[in-house]
Parts: sequence; structure tokens; C-alpha cells
Amino acid sequence: MRCEVVAVGTELLLGQVVDTNSAWIGDRLALAGIDCHFQTKVGDNHARIVSAIRIALDRSDAVLVCGGLGPTSDDITREAIAEVLGVALVRDPAMVERIAQIFESRKRDMAPSNERQADRVEGATFIPQVRGTAPGLICPVGDKVVYAVPGVPFEMEEMLDRAVIPDLKRRSGVTAVILSRMLRTWGTAESTLGELVAGRVEALEARSNPTIAFLASGIEGLKVRITAKAATEAEATAMLDAEEAELRAILGELVFGIDDQSMERVVADLLLERGLTLGVAESLTGGLVASRLAETAGASKWFRGSIVCYDSKVKFDLLDVPEGPVVSAEAAEAMARGACKALEADVGISVTGVAGPTTQEDQPVGTVFMAVALGGVFTSAESHLPGDRQHVRMFSTISVLDMLRRRLLKWKG
Ligand code: ATP
Repeated sequence: MRCEVVAVGTELLLGQVVDTNSAWIGDRLALAGIDCHFQTKVGDNHARIVSAIRIALDRSDAVLVCGGLGPTSDDITREAIAEVLGVALVRDPAMVERIAQIFESRKRDMAPSNERQADRVEGATFIPQVRGTAPGLICPVGDKVVYAVPGVPFEMEEMLDRAVIPDLKRRSGVTAVILSRMLRTWGTAESTLGELVAGRVEALEARSNPTIAFLASGIEGLKVRITAKAATEAEATAMLDAEEAELRAILGELVFGIDDQSMERVVADLLLERGLTLGVAESLTGGLVASRLAETAGASKWFRGSIVCYDSKVKFDLLDVPEGPVVSAEAAEAMARGACKALEADVGISVTGVAGPTTQEDQPVGTVFMAVALGGVFTSAESHLPGDRQHVRMFSTISVLDMLRRRLLKWKG
């Protein structure tokens, strides 16, 4: 079974909106075991949408059109599908009523144009709308099928998981369960990671199940995704567990979490488990470390606060940093110690460096010193980070959190 995506919207062609829907759909189709060889973007033009759908239908078994189901005159996906199928559009009175009820429940007036959303391609069935006002469509064409889903991402995602993917699986006879798990890593280059797991990739290629793939996610690190296919969920989970164990044995502390576990969530859990509070002293990151930490629910249990000591004098006066170079390991250690003291925290972390664009204290842009103070022991590290000012600040933030994570893993209390 091959399914193509046609994303409709002139804004996608002009670069005003990034076509994240196609990426999301591509991921979901792959997980469902359905091949997707083409993704097309087309503007809000009747003839061109018709042409895009025809081409897609010609070379694939299923076409998933997203966008253009709204009430305005440039939302013409329904008309285009009707033309491709050579059938009429029929207004569905029950659906008009349903849309009117949605507006009533939201205490909003329904514009007469919203009735267009109740137009059904003859022979098609509606996918009931849960989040938005537009229903989706399932339009059979011989032994093929065209789906239409809204363009608004959270409406599309819900409809795809609830109705489209199960329908595609039924049509294609895919009964296997496909599960995936992402191992999130920090602290190594993509090439090094690739070399480390090359043996596993080779071993798995021979069997082709499970598979592993690499995804670079910028300041969130490198991800290794394991995908397993099996007859039951339990079997697929067991395969993921086994491969995760193999990879962890190779990657060790490089793996900081799985799936949606962020670096700050992992750090928060380690601090909670060990009953420790944290204080931060940050210079070039200007509050980014504090901001990431405060994103975790329940941070008040362990996060004492952060001192943004941007000016050297603030480092000297508030944190007892000895007068001298402030882009140095000594300054970073003194800042971490000062953060513990000033914020009455068990653990102190610090980051100081050169964000750019100009050098500081003769140190090149990207030079960063970080330190952790815990139990009277100070550890510091020097990094040379790539990129522009914003990148250096964001890389510094996750790097110091990672340094803390590794220190906490070794801490015995
Ligand atoms: P609805 O009927 O629920 O209003 P729609 O089908 O009319 O949705 P569009 O009008 O095509 O959807 O798009 C609505 C908004 O959804 C766009 O302005 C854009 O912000 C977002 N959107 C549309 N297509 C995409 C896409 N492919 N990727 C990401 N966002 C998209």
C-alpha cells in the first residue's frame, strides 16, 4: 500500500507557513507500515489541486489531501476532489446541523459560508470533526481512496490517528504492530555516534527488524530511533527493550533520556531522587538555564533560583568570584560555589563564556567554562561551541545541564 500526501495552501508555497503537516504525516505512515514515496505542495488553485490529486492517484493507492477544508472561497479541496472523481458535491443537512451546534456550543455566530463545510463528495463518507468545524472525507475511487483532512495541525493530527490510519491499515491488510522508541543523546558528534553504533546497524540490517535510524535535533542533541514490527504490542515492546539495552551498553552515559524526556526533566528527576536543591549562576546564558529548569512541573521542590551575573562586577560582588579573568575555569568554579552559598542550595552550577560576536579576554567566540559544586567537590569543564551568538548560548545551556546530570549520576550522597 502506497499513500501520497498533497498539502494544499498558497501560504505553504510562499514560505509563510512551514509544511509541518507532511512531515508529521510521513512519520505516522511509516510507523503504520505504509509506504509514502511522494509529498506534494500545491497552492489554492482549482486546476492545480485537481492536477496534483490526479498525478498522485495515478501512481499511488491512497492520496491524503490536507488543508483547504475551511469555509472561505479559497478553501476548494472538496470541489477539486469532486472533479477528479467526476461526481457532484452534495450539501448534507445533518452535517449543517452538526456544524451549527458546534458554533452554538462555543457561543459564536455561524457565518452562512460555514455551510460549505457540510458539502460531501458524492459517494464519500464524512470523518466526524472533533476539534474543528470541518469534517474530513473518505472518498473511495475503485480500489483506491482519497482522504481529505483539515490543514490546522491539531485538527489534522487527531483525525489522522482516529480515522485515516486505521482505515488505511484495514485497506492494506497491515495487521502488524509497529512501535518506536527514541534514545536521546548529548555530548558527541554525529559521526562518532554513527561509528559507535555501526556494529548494531550492521547486525540489524541482516534481519531488517527492528531498525535503527539517526535524527539530528540541533540543540536537543542526537536521537537514535528504534522501530520494531511484531504481531502483538507485547512482542514489539520486548524487541524495543532488547535493542535499547544493546544500545545503552554501547552508548552509556551519552543517553540522557527516551522519547519526550527533556534534559531538564531528567535533571529534575535526579535531583528529586537524591533530595538535593539546585542554585545557578549564569553569565552568557542570561537566564536560559533558569528558564529551561522552570519549565519542569514541580520545579519549586528543588530549584532555588538563578543569579544572572552578566557584568563581571556582579560576579565579584554577589558571588565572591576573585577579581581576574571571568572566562576561566577558576571563575566558573567560584560562581558555582557562590551560587550554592547565596541561594542556600545543595548543588551549584555555573556557566561563563564568550557568546560573541566579539572575543572577550582574548578568548575566541564559543569558549565556555562550566562548573558543578556538590558536596565540597568542584568539577569544571571547558567547551568550544560552534555557531552564532544564539547557538552558543543555547548549546551552553544544555551542556551545563548535561554536566550536572553526569555528576548527579555518580553522586552517592
Ligand atoms: P479548517 O477547515 O479547520 O479551518 P483548513 O482545512 O481550511 O482547516 P487551511 O485553511 O488550509 O485549513 O489552513 C489553516 C491553517 O492551518 C493555515 O493557515 C496554517 O496555519 C495551518 N496549516 C495548513 N496547512 C498546513 C501544513 N501543511 N503544515 C502546517 N500548518 C498548516
